[in-house]
Amino acid sequence: MEQEPYPLVILGGGPAGLTAAIYAMRAGLTCLVIEKAVAGGAVFLTDKIENYPGFPGGILGPELSQRMEEQAKSLGAEFLQDEVTRVELEGNLKLVKLAGGKTVTSRALVVASGCQPNRLGIPGEDKFYGRGVSYCAACDGAFFRGAEVAVIGGGDSAVQEALLLSKLAKHVHLIHRRDQLRAIQVLQDAAQQAKNISLIWDTLAQEVEGEDQVKAVKLLHKPTGQKRSLPVEGVFIYVGGKPITGFIRHLVEMTPEGYIQAGEDCKTSVPGIFAAGDVRKKPTRQIASAVGDGCNALKAVEDYLLGL
Ligand SMILES: Cc1cc2nc3c(=O)[nH]c(=O)nc-3n(C[C@H](O)[C@H](O)[C@H](O)COP(=O)(O)OP(=O)(O)OC[C@H]3O[C@@H](n4cnc5c(N)ncnc54)[C@H](O)[C@@H]3O)c2cc1C
Repeated sequence: MEQEPYPLVILGGGPAGLTAAIYAMRAGLTCLVIEKAVAGGAVFLTDKIENYPGFPGGILGPELSQRMEEQAKSLGAEFLQDEVTRVELEGNLKLVKLAGGKTVTSRALVVASGCQPNRLGIPGEDKFYGRGVSYCAACDGAFFRGAEVAVIGGGDSAVQEALLLSKLAKHVHLIHRRDQLRAIQVLQDAAQQAKNISLIWDTLAQEVEGEDQVKAVKLLHKPTGQKRSLPVEGVFIYVGGKPITGFIRHLVEMTPEGYIQAGEDCKTSVPGIFAAGDVRKKPTRQIASAVGDGCNALKAVEDYLLGL
């Protein structure tokens, strides 16, 4: 016999997905969370989180992940470990195809599959990840108070994060491969006016160096071919991010970068499909904002299901 459709399926078990699951269960909606790896998402991979309210002194990423997962499970949310490969529509129903060969059917769908920062792919980047290499100044900047740090990139995120770091670090070296920044003018002006930000133009980061922790970044000045090691304790990399939306790209409206177009109510261009967390086009990508999205999405899911 065919399985009844779930009222709600949630794609991704990061903070956005887990919050949606908690709100769903408390609203009396049975829900299934499909997670391909470990519940907690990017939080599970983060060492210490110091900016999520309720934890003075911070909390370890795996611990916060486990608490969120436990809360959703204790309320009765179901979990399935598998990878979503494609979503199809059949009338109002959403068919979620999984790598394991199964298809799960639901009336409403919350897409909370997150976003992955691009890597530079240089030697030392993986080795020193969490030991000086970071992709998030808002998350890790506080560990570099009074230190010399490098920011790699030239777009809005790179300059924004360089400005944030300039309030904490002793000096920020903003390294860009071109001779001008791509960031909006107001950010460029702010970076150029900051006393402790210096811009290093036409330069490629070639290697992150160190022993246990980062000690320097090796640079190549493209026009002259000159190489040098810049002593820094932190290397923050902002060379774009990849939202994980390949499985739904054919259905919902996206930005050119692949983020799902949805407002604060998390409604996408397809009725009954909602986008929450880092996967949605929005100005901040943090745990607190992902949690907020999970909550907002559920309000919209409830309204949608009531109208069916
Ligand atoms: C290194 C790092 C450190 C950070 N530190 C902080 C911090 O200190 N404070 C802070 O506020 N924010 C921090 N952030 C940002 C924060 O982690 C994210 O904003 C937040 O996790 C986004 O939540 P999310 O639920 O939208 O996505 P994610 O946490 O990315 O979760 C998405 C989940 O979906 C799953 N998934 C993806 N595709 C599929 C698929 N096809 N099928 C099934 N499952 C799928 C993934 O496995 C993942 O578990 C950090 C981010 C990074 C990368």
